[in-house]
Amino acid sequence: MLKTLRAKLLFFFLFATLLPLLFVGYITFQSQKIETNQQLQQTMYTMADNLAISIEEIVNERMADVTILANNTILRDSTATREEIREELRIFVSAHSIYYGALFVNPEGVVSVDLDNTIVGTDVTDRLWYQQATNQNGIYFSDIFYSDVIHQPAIVLASVVKGEDGEALGVVSAIFDVNALWERLAHYSKQQKSHGLEGYAFLVNGRGDIIAHPNENLILSYNYLEQNDLTSDMFDGLVQNRNLFHSKSNDMIQTFSRIAKAPGFDNEWYLSISVPNERMNSPIKELILKYLVLFGCVVLITSIGVIKLSSYIVKPLQKLVFATSDFAFGKKVYPLAPDAYHEVDTLTRTFNMMTRRLVEREKSHRKSTLILETTDNGVLAFQQSSQRVTTFNRQCEQLFGLAKEQALGATLDQVIEQNGAFKTFIDCSKLSDVLRNQDFNKKYEFECYLGGQKRIFFASVSTLPKLNNEEELEDVLLIFIDITDKRKIEQELIRSEKLQLVGQLAAGFAHEIRNPLTTIRGFMQIFHQSDATKDEHKVHYDVMIKEIDRVNSIIGELLQMANPKSGTSKTETNIGEVLTDIHTLYEPEANEQGIKMRLQVEPLPTVYLDRSKLHQVVMNLVKNGLEAIDGSGSLALSAYENTEREIIEIKVEDTGIGMNPQTMEKLGTPFFTTKETGTGLGLMTSFRIVEEIGGKLLVTSKEGVGTTFMIQLPLYELKMYR
Ligand code: ADP
Ligand code: MG
Repeated sequence: MLKTLRAKLLFFFLFATLLPLLFVGYITFQSQKIETNQQLQQTMYTMADNLAISIEEIVNERMADVTILANNTILRDSTATREEIREELRIFVSAHSIYYGALFVNPEGVVSVDLDNTIVGTDVTDRLWYQQATNQNGIYFSDIFYSDVIHQPAIVLASVVKGEDGEALGVVSAIFDVNALWERLAHYSKQQKSHGLEGYAFLVNGRGDIIAHPNENLILSYNYLEQNDLTSDMFDGLVQNRNLFHSKSNDMIQTFSRIAKAPGFDNEWYLSISVPNERMNSPIKELILKYLVLFGCVVLITSIGVIKLSSYIVKPLQKLVFATSDFAFGKKVYPLAPDAYHEVDTLTRTFNMMTRRLVEREKSHRKSTLILETTDNGVLAFQQSSQRVTTFNRQCEQLFGLAKEQALGATLDQVIEQNGAFKTFIDCSKLSDVLRNQDFNKKYEFECYLGGQKRIFFASVSTLPKLNNEEELEDVLLIFIDITDKRKIEQELIRSEKLQLVGQLAAGFAHEIRNPLTTIRGFMQIFHQSDATKDEHKVHYDVMIKEIDRVNSIIGELLQMANPKSGTSKTETNIGEVLTDIHTLYEPEANEQGIKMRLQVEPLPTVYLDRSKLHQVVMNLVKNGLEAIDGSGSLALSAYENTEREIIEIKVEDTGIGMNPQTMEKLGTPFFTTKETGTGLGLMTSFRIVEEIGGKLLVTSKEGVGTTFMIQLPLYELKMYR
């Protein structure tokens, strides 16, 4: 999943920023939560306490009201009439709108005065307020109760009225409107609101009865302890420990403060501040919201930052990655600009350098391959250990007629098996000896018959070191070149040099020999004629003169060869005619021997050369051809134009005895002959003449099959008269 660098960075940064943030956030949130809770609690406690004091004040004020009433001089006057007392009571009630009514009870416990005379005469000695007022402190503040008189919840206040001498004159009592208490609480609730707290305050007594509440219906009809499943002990604990109580019935959080007791006020009253639970949690909710927003912002900023950062980091890397894969797939890659950060720039520069080097290496490799493929040398390499062929260039392909694909990867033996020429070549090269003797760095020549022709090769065997380890030997490299033509040229050169030398020698000899020979012949003829009587010598003379003529003809040939330029006269020559003449000349003789002589001449361009010399050369070749045929056979004489090479080729082919290689090598050497009566000068003269004309005389021969002599004459030189 997190495969890409971008995803990894994003994950890492989010992790690195969010984890501490979460941690810090959690701790701050918790401490703030506690603090807000404490603050809230504190506010609730303070308000509860303040309100409790305020309630105590009300209680004290009301007790003071009644005390003042009890100290009224008229009331304390034992002689005061009932009317006077009523008047005083009326003044009291009208002055304090919070009282429903007031009454005066005589020392016997019977109501003597009341505001509207409805209960006068009622005995109240059994009433708690009466008993409390007369027995204890002389003043009494009752708990809330349901009044039968006013038909609503009320509180009764009562105080003993004492005369001048301290004797009890009766008890004064007033009924207090609980709404007044509620108003005070309502006033406080408003304050509570202004402090930022919702909710309300209420009063509950020790029994759990609600005694003041914004909802009047609950007063005295709702038991707080019962409704909340609280025992009075649990409630005491709540108050004592100042715990917050969560009232499940209406989902309110409440705190309680006890109203202090005072002489005459002996009630267990508790004031409660009640705040909706929801309101308690709202600061926390706000806090959570704030944190979420903060968190969101941080995530957003981090994400944007990381995305920016990752593209800053990743983009140049991506560029490199694309360039690398392009390069790997052989596409052209231009140098990349190092415009990112240091590390990647270094990488980019290295990449540029690497690609440049690789391209250069590739170029030089291609060049080497090209050289390898176009060179005249055959290049063959194989692994020394496995003998598998690793290099097989085009020259090898051409020489052995074997495709590179067939050779590469195969062992030498496998190649030998599938290709005869290769086998012959490897045998001739004695490569196995070289390998056996580890005779590397060897250069040598060897001969080989390939395609029915003798070829001479020059070879060099060496080793190529392993590319990764210079010490170890890896490939054996065999480089060879066909030097057959070179050798031929060399031989021709030697031959022509020999010819020149012999020519010069012969020129000197010939003159010296010819003159005495002429003299000898002349005398021989004279002797022959004068000695005519002796017939038995006649034959001897004839032989002698014939032999002398033969010597003369040899000398003539020698002279001609020695100084061939003498008597050179170039004429417009029709080669066809020359050949026809020779054919006509020799056909009868050939027929006699049972040899078939054929002539084939194509129309040829006229050339300028010494006709008689060409005649002599062709004649020499025809003579040799006829002499080579033992018994029947055929001799073909032909001439044609090779337009491609711009030469005229004259061919003399016979089906004679042919020549072995040793004879072939010696051809043209003066006096070399295999015939009993041969001079060994015919071919030498022919080579010389052809060379003079500017052409070439080539021989191919096979023992027992026949011989072909070919005269090649360059048209370009012979077409014009010089
Ligand atoms: P000669 O004919 O007097 O022997 P050449 O110079 O004409 O001298 O020939 C030299 C040798 O070359 C011959 O003796 C012969 O062995 C060989 N030779 C020349 N032509 C042929 C041929 N057509 N067939 C076989 N051998 C030949
Ligand atoms: Mg001859």
